[in-house]
Amino acid sequence: MSKRDYYEVLGVGKNATEQEIKKAYRKLAMKYHPDRNPGDKEAEEKFKEANEAYEVLSDPQKRKNYDQFGHAGVNGNFSGQGGFDFGGSGFGGFEDVFGDIFGDIFGGAFGGKSRRKGPERGADIRYRMTISFEEAAFGVEKEIKINRSEKCEVCDGSGAKPGTSRKTCPTCNGSGEIRQAQRTPFGTMMNVRTCHTCHGEGTVIESPCSKCGGKGEIKKTKQISIKIPAGVDDGSAIRLSGEGELGLRGGPRGDLYIIIDVAPHKLFKREGYDIYCEMPITFVQAALGDEVEVPTLDGKVKYKIPEGTQSGTVFRLREKGIKKLHSNSRGDQYVKVIVEVPKKLTERQKEILRNFAKESGEEVHEQRKNFFDKMKDLFK
Ligand SMILES: [Zn+2]
Ligand SMILES: [Zn+2]
Repeated sequence: MSKRDYYEVLGVGKNATEQEIKKAYRKLAMKYHPDRNPGDKEAEEKFKEANEAYEVLSDPQKRKNYDQFGHAGVNGNFSGQGGFDFGGSGFGGFEDVFGDIFGDIFGGAFGGKSRRKGPERGADIRYRMTISFEEAAFGVEKEIKINRSEKCEVCDGSGAKPGTSRKTCPTCNGSGEIRQAQRTPFGTMMNVRTCHTCHGEGTVIESPCSKCGGKGEIKKTKQISIKIPAGVDDGSAIRLSGEGELGLRGGPRGDLYIIIDVAPHKLFKREGYDIYCEMPITFVQAALGDEVEVPTLDGKVKYKIPEGTQSGTVFRLREKGIKKLHSNSRGDQYVKVIVEVPKKLTERQKEILRNFAKESGEEVHEQRKNFFDKMKDLFK
């Protein structure tokens, strides 16, 4: 099933402010909340869809990824995809939006459910690299070094000093949430909030690991080899799934995006998978025809120019362009012939040309002004 555009889901424009997104989401979530639509599958789907859209668009980084790469840019950000478990991850913004509203109106819906934070996917990493025109044409393998978080080997990612362990949070007794009964005209409602001591983790560190300072992770330089497929173009992004930052609480790693810049070529211009170049030939070659050597990405090839070739004629070399992505065929090369008129002639060469003109029945007045000088006269 293809996913709907997140902006469309929330019914906001691409330039919507955070406030507008929040407002639109709140409206949809209230309308489609499963508690208000028991047993309504369609409402449930709509609710999930809105949650997903909000989760991405309310996070500036994720929104940026989404704007740039579409659904692929935020793929896998949803550990809560399968249902609408508010206790799960991926709903970091949920409380911001609803504050007390959910506590009051839907308070009962959360009964018995722990809001202890679950695993969370790591952040994506973006890496920009420049490759040559030829590397883009034929593909290349590159080694890159990225600085990313790795599990701290001293505490094995727990953040607690070796020999000690995380302790159950004394404030919430490990549930990650604080419940408060609240009297309202409709009766007593339960108000549920994330625990401020453990931030919903349910556990706290008493003696932090000295190596990572309790974070459980440290930044390291990691060498990664990447295969850049033949045919990539300037601005392409390659996703290396699971090579991003470390996830939280056992969550999966984020992704690594390699953004490709292709350096320009001094001879060729690229358009899709086709390449274009210009080739100067002499006017004698153009008039009489000749076999010339044409530069291609595979080296020089011979090409027969027919006699009487006009300047500006374009000929095509089939399958001499860029290798197509995920295919064995290639684009073509287009060569535009530029006939060069000699600038310096010997007296003897001039004589030959005068004879040539006479032979063609052409009168030559060498002193006469050329076309452009005449044009200049016109505008004086
Ligand atoms: Zn550590
Ligand atoms: Zn706590």
